[in-house]
Amino acid sequence: TGTPLAGRVAVVSGASSGIGAATATRLAGLGAKVAVLARRKDKLDTLVAAVNDDGGTAVAIPVDVTSRDAVHAAAREVEDRLGAADLVFNNAGVQLISPITDLRQDEWQRQIDLNVTGVMNVIGAFVPHLTAAASAGKPADLISTSSIAATRILEKFSVYSGTKAYLSHLTRLLRVELGPKNVRVATIEPGMVDTELPDHVTDPDAGRLMADLISQIDVLQSADVAETVAFMAAVPRHVNLTEVTILPTAQP
Ligand code: NDP
Repeated sequence: TGTPLAGRVAVVSGASSGIGAATATRLAGLGAKVAVLARRKDKLDTLVAAVNDDGGTAVAIPVDVTSRDAVHAAAREVEDRLGAADLVFNNAGVQLISPITDLRQDEWQRQIDLNVTGVMNVIGAFVPHLTAAASAGKPADLISTSSIAATRILEKFSVYSGTKAYLSHLTRLLRVELGPKNVRVATIEPGMVDTELPDHVTDPDAGRLMADLISQIDVLQSADVAETVAFMAAVPRHVNLTEVTILPTAQP
């Protein structure tokens, strides 16, 4: 059918731009009801209006996921407005690459706060939703956005790569506990995607490195990743695509 995700309740973090925005839109297009989480309310409102105009269902929940209390409040709001979530796309992340010797410790901390603590806050708030959905016989998915940086050795990526390595390995361990409860746990590990991600880099050399790559090859678009996440959620309930790498064809 055209609506393989009908009846699903999805939550997308980092949904105000890039991969999260595209994925929220795609999931709604495939029939899921979608709660979109991020800090920029105006961007979320625009996305929700577009989904609703297309006949879909989406609700905006402005939240900073680095706050545990705020994420728990968001989870209660999802349950009140859409029902318990059965598809969690744990996607918010920040990449601030720089040489370690620059000691940009504030930027190290921002990456750890979002890519580790923020990711754990989402897991803590929504795992009860996922296990409840699975017990009720529904498909249940926890899909997190890691990166090829989780395994590759890339100069100046140390702290960012560390956070993504944490997320990828965490996911393998969560599968051991949640898989037997019929909750699918997965990471998607993209290569270069054309989003706002490099805009936050303050180190000029590191910023140029990313801009050069984007200009030299035909990089992924957010919609490419969105389509893949939707596929991971739409396969039969007994099938778990666990670690999906998606690269631009021309990226080595
Ligand atoms: P974007 O910068 O476009 O998206 C990041 C999203 O995270 C935004 O919606 C942003 O919204 C949200 N966000 C940032 N801080 C917070 C916060 N404290 N609380 C809630 N939401 C927050 O980049 P991408 O779409 O590229 O990034 C999405 C994920 O993909 C990240 O985890 C990134 O590491 C990963 N990734 C990206 C790759 C790429 O090449 N682009 C490659 C591999 C992985 P707001 O500012 O409104 O809060």
